[in-house]
Amino acid sequence: MPYIEDRASWFEGQGLWQHIPASDWLDWTWQLKNRITTVAQLEQFMTLTAEERAGCVFANQKLALAITPYFFNLIDRNDPNCPIRKQVIPRAGEMVQSDEEMLDSLGEDEHSPVPGLVHRYPDRVLFLVTDRCAAYCRYCTRSRLVSNAQDYNFHPEYEQGLRYIEAHPEVRDVLLSGGDPLLLSDRKLEHLLSRLRAIKHVEFIRIGSRIPVFLPQRITPELCEIFKKYGPIWMSIHVNHPKEATAELKAACERLSFAGVPLGNQSVLLAGVNDDADVMKALVHRLLRMRVRPYYIYQMDLITGGAHFKVDVRKGIEIIRALRGHTTGYAVPQYVIDAPGGGGKVPINPDYVEKITDDEVIFRNYEGQSFRYPLKSTPMKAVDGAELPASGIELVTVRP
Ligand SMILES: *Cc1c(COP(=O)(O)O)cnc(C)c1O
Ligand code: SF4
Repeated sequence: MPYIEDRASWFEGQGLWQHIPASDWLDWTWQLKNRITTVAQLEQFMTLTAEERAGCVFANQKLALAITPYFFNLIDRNDPNCPIRKQVIPRAGEMVQSDEEMLDSLGEDEHSPVPGLVHRYPDRVLFLVTDRCAAYCRYCTRSRLVSNAQDYNFHPEYEQGLRYIEAHPEVRDVLLSGGDPLLLSDRKLEHLLSRLRAIKHVEFIRIGSRIPVFLPQRITPELCEIFKKYGPIWMSIHVNHPKEATAELKAACERLSFAGVPLGNQSVLLAGVNDDADVMKALVHRLLRMRVRPYYIYQMDLITGGAHFKVDVRKGIEIIRALRGHTTGYAVPQYVIDAPGGGGKVPINPDYVEKITDDEVIFRNYEGQSFRYPLKSTPMKAVDGAELPASGIELVTVRP
């Protein structure tokens, strides 16, 4: 069935938690304390399928089960195929492993000069500052360490990480991630940001966070003041489906934007969640309305027990083709595969170029019509009425 977007409505309210005072509902610590973390709690609210039940029983050996009440409200409890449900409720597929899959599929541990700091690209580092999240995504790339269900015993080494960055003047860009950096207290976060801001060669600081999506209440005025003080701080949020774009997420994005935080979005292409051009189009439109620029769509990493989420790369290309030219250019993210083993992010694009020679390039537009752009300009003559200088003119042709 094609996805039909409800453009007017943005989910809002307390859903199943009507009986809770609004002051609790809006308090992010209440949301964290009242997370759904056990099968028994889940079953108080909904009927699990046999597949989900088996997945839940296994989950605590792999990646903890946790869902904030706010995010739980977005699940359609009557629909086993609900795209929100699939993201946070474990399924039996997590117990299945294939040969291609790896615990550390991006070779991050090999590229870590100090624990929790990944220095893969010459000019930027990924700084993992915690292993905790507000809720856990069943397809998480870092499920090996996130939530510590596998006894990975990840301990972020702030001081060592900061000292490494201080000692490496080539690092101009620091990406705070995890786990979710916005789970740190304001005080810890302010400490990290002030230390990074004090490093002269660090020009660009950004945070990767799913907190605005799982726990928009965390985006408090006090937190926004910290971003203002140490800004510009850029942020990549993580929204996969238009149903996640609620009134509360929109308001959180507005608070961040008004505090001077430019926002991007990263989605993971997930089977049965967003592997559909209509769903993706609805999502990117909603993102723009929330002041968020779609940044990346990731092909799923080859994590252990992730095969049930895997989407054919040709489908991803088809989605980009359905967006480019058909909608606002700002709405079109870059589709990437993070190269297994640690090659970095590589753009995967539909091919618009049919033929390219020294003389011409033949290419197709978004509607499939073919065009020609000449690269050589012969014969050359003066434009009517123009007088060329006696020395003639020099034309420079730049070739790759
Ligand atoms: C994704 C990533 C970055 C940031 O990449 P951009 O393309 O600049 O967003 C940096 N370091 C590592 C290890 C990453 O995985
Ligand atoms: S929020 Fe990010 S780090 Fe946390 S579980 Fe989801 S994908 Fe993993």
